[in-house]
Amino acid sequence: MTDNFTTLGLAEPILRAIAHEGYTTPTPIQTRAIPHLLAGRDLLGIAQTGTGKTAAFALPILHRLAKSGGRALPGHCRVLVLAPTRELATQIADSFKAYGRHVGISVAVVIGGASYGPQTKALARGVDVLVATPGRLLDHIEARVVRLDKTEVVVLDEADHMLDLGFLVPIRRILKHLPAQRQSLFFSATMPKEIRALADQMLRDPVEVAIVPLATTVASVTQQVFLIEADKKRQLLVELLGQPNFTRTLVFTRTKRGADRVVAHLEAAGLAAAAIHGNKSQGQREKALAGFKSGRTRVLVATDIAARGIDVDNVTHVVNFELPHVPETYVHRIGRTARAGAAGIAISFCDGEEQTLLRDIERLTRQTLPSVDRRTSGWKTPSAGAKPANHRSGRGAPGRGSNRWSNQRSNQRSGPRTVNAGRYAAA
Ligand code: AMP
Repeated sequence: MTDNFTTLGLAEPILRAIAHEGYTTPTPIQTRAIPHLLAGRDLLGIAQTGTGKTAAFALPILHRLAKSGGRALPGHCRVLVLAPTRELATQIADSFKAYGRHVGISVAVVIGGASYGPQTKALARGVDVLVATPGRLLDHIEARVVRLDKTEVVVLDEADHMLDLGFLVPIRRILKHLPAQRQSLFFSATMPKEIRALADQMLRDPVEVAIVPLATTVASVTQQVFLIEADKKRQLLVELLGQPNFTRTLVFTRTKRGADRVVAHLEAAGLAAAAIHGNKSQGQREKALAGFKSGRTRVLVATDIAARGIDVDNVTHVVNFELPHVPETYVHRIGRTARAGAAGIAISFCDGEEQTLLRDIERLTRQTLPSVDRRTSGWKTPSAGAKPANHRSGRGAPGRGSNRWSNQRSNQRSGPRTVNAGRYAAA
């Protein structure tokens, strides 16, 4: 599998913009779609927001514009992107501007609820990339402000959402204005039959790429949570690390001071451990990492930022001494174990203050993590009306209905559960 943007074959000005965005690795939809799009194929992408689909279509389109040179004719566009909402259209246009910052292209947004004047002016000049909602675009077509007969690429984004909003008729009317000779891209999170029919009408011999969030990558990680008071965590860690199967354990803390405190405690308990974080010198970090890699130090305690560059095989256990504030970080952390097909175990400590963080993780990963209750005294149940974290990937994830946090219930499930780590996967 291709794992960097250079090997995907994108032009240098685009690679520079990607680097500027801080992207280092393409997401699965990017890896799978970009080569076909660069080859000029039509695409049916079954993927939702959050998978990196905007860059999956914007990057190869920008590559095409960069390579072919030329400009849009007055009253025409070269690329048309149809989006269901103003917000999405604006975001897509912003992405094209960001990824196309070194390409020198014009981008215009044509959406309802904004005044016609500036849109008409931009269209009259001609735009390379036009991002539009269907209703307003149709107004401009009917007013003969813009023609689509020279459009080279058309993208229909969030087609299922278009259906929900009643846009299928305007879309069909727009499609009639496009030339037969074009590249067409179609994205939808779901494929009800009306959408399948629209895709069949719009696409010619498309490549189909389906991506589902949060399924398997290569790693299978057994996950478990210990519900425990904050001041009992260090003791539990010592207990766990005393077991012989914890041969190479990465412990995560949220803060640098926290990492140092954990190391001091482990050393006092006779366990060889090293910390790696931003306050350590390069030499200290290298030494800690070398000790961990060689197996001399069985435990490495790290903060998230310091852990980013760590690439160590055969990490048997990841321990989340503290849960991360950003739920995606949990997925990154546990992905440190079970590399290259090996089995791995991820253990998380959750105190009373961290209950909502655990819920956010469960919502993101769409699973209820098996938990072992080690509390000696209970802690408060979160208020029933508390607003759930609004996580876009979280639909259908465990809700707040569970009474896991009530003082009465001891939630001792039958054992840890193996689930797949990693954000996205090919379906
Ligand atoms: P999208 O699915 O297009 O809404 O993208 C979701 C988010 O992922 C956006 O905030 C993008 O900036 C970000 N993103 C897209 N591609 C990558 C990548 N290869 N690496 C890191 N972040 C990315």
